[in-house]
Amino acid sequence: MKKAFILPLLCMLFLSVSEASRQTAVQKIRFSSYKSQTRVVIDLSGPIVFTQNRIADPDRIFFDIENSSLSDNVNSSVPIMDGVLKKVRMSQFNEKTVRVVLDIDKMSTYSVFILEDPQRLVIDVYPEIAGESRKENRGSPKTLPDKDLNKIETIVIDAGHGGKDPGAIGPGGLQEKDITLNVGKKLGEILEQKQGVKIIYTRDKDIFVPLNERTEIANSHKADLFVSIHVNASERRNARGIETYFLNWTNDKEALKVAARENKIPISKMEKIQDGLQMILQDLARNNKREESMRLAHSVQSSLVNSLRSDYSKIEDLGVKYALFYVLVGAEMPSILVEISFISNHEEEKRLAASSYRNKVAEAIAKGIDTYISQSTLVVETFQKRASGG
Ligand SMILES: [Zn+2]
Repeated sequence: MKKAFILPLLCMLFLSVSEASRQTAVQKIRFSSYKSQTRVVIDLSGPIVFTQNRIADPDRIFFDIENSSLSDNVNSSVPIMDGVLKKVRMSQFNEKTVRVVLDIDKMSTYSVFILEDPQRLVIDVYPEIAGESRKENRGSPKTLPDKDLNKIETIVIDAGHGGKDPGAIGPGGLQEKDITLNVGKKLGEILEQKQGVKIIYTRDKDIFVPLNERTEIANSHKADLFVSIHVNASERRNARGIETYFLNWTNDKEALKVAARENKIPISKMEKIQDGLQMILQDLARNNKREESMRLAHSVQSSLVNSLRSDYSKIEDLGVKYALFYVLVGAEMPSILVEISFISNHEEEKRLAASSYRNKVAEAIAKGIDTYISQSTLVVETFQKRASGG
């Protein structure tokens, strides 16, 4: 099972000669309209390499999938018309390339990634944020019959570090472990009131809890969400802002650095572990709710940025990222790690030291979780059939 999983990943990274002679079939386009994003999924028969570009007049993004061919009977044009995308279309651009084009209505940014087992190219397109005046004709949201999606009964809050592990320490002496504990407890109190959910803390006092035990606590309680709270640090004293992570392989140097620090291992070892893909393989093979984790991460990140910006200046949105965090490995539920600010930045350290800022952070994370939960009931999984009628 392990071997079977390694193979497509390696092929994706280093397309071998034998693999190159066999084309990947592009099988199907489907999409889902969420309030927060439009997700386009391209189903594929095997691993792919692609290039991407955004061009204007008319505004569109295209992806060239190398060494691929369109399957017979594939619906090559899918109308969306949800206010973000007009339609998705694809064609055999040349002998070896399938081109997928997303015709844009109004969008802010997009992200693209590959998911395995089965192989698919996933493109998340985020709507333009113009106050609250977003178009209301985004599909026709229906409540999903699948109750598991919105059944969030138990949330585990993981305050980073603790006890003998202070985490990052600010220039003024503030310790990460104290901030995470304080924000974590506030978050728990807010969530307990608003959602009526059960909160479990991996620690509720200044004690040391090993990283692997933290997800074990969540798994043993069959928790529905896992939220790890951390404070960022950088050798660049002017580094500032907020970022939210989920677990995945990465080659982003900055993300690797953050993960290395949180994992308490040197960056060189971090890269080695990644190259071996050892720990993460088992986790990815289990299909650990990555798409849900990502959606939760986006919801929490945008809530944090938006609410802090209303009261504070220079709130930098560093976005949703992914890296190999030990504390997320093995979680059997959607799980994220939030870096709420930089303790190494003098101004942000001062903010973190104030309870008003910490309260605001806790409230914003709670609101992000709230939005995630409420949107789980509004997911419209729309496939070709419905689209061809619209
Ligand atoms: Zn930390």
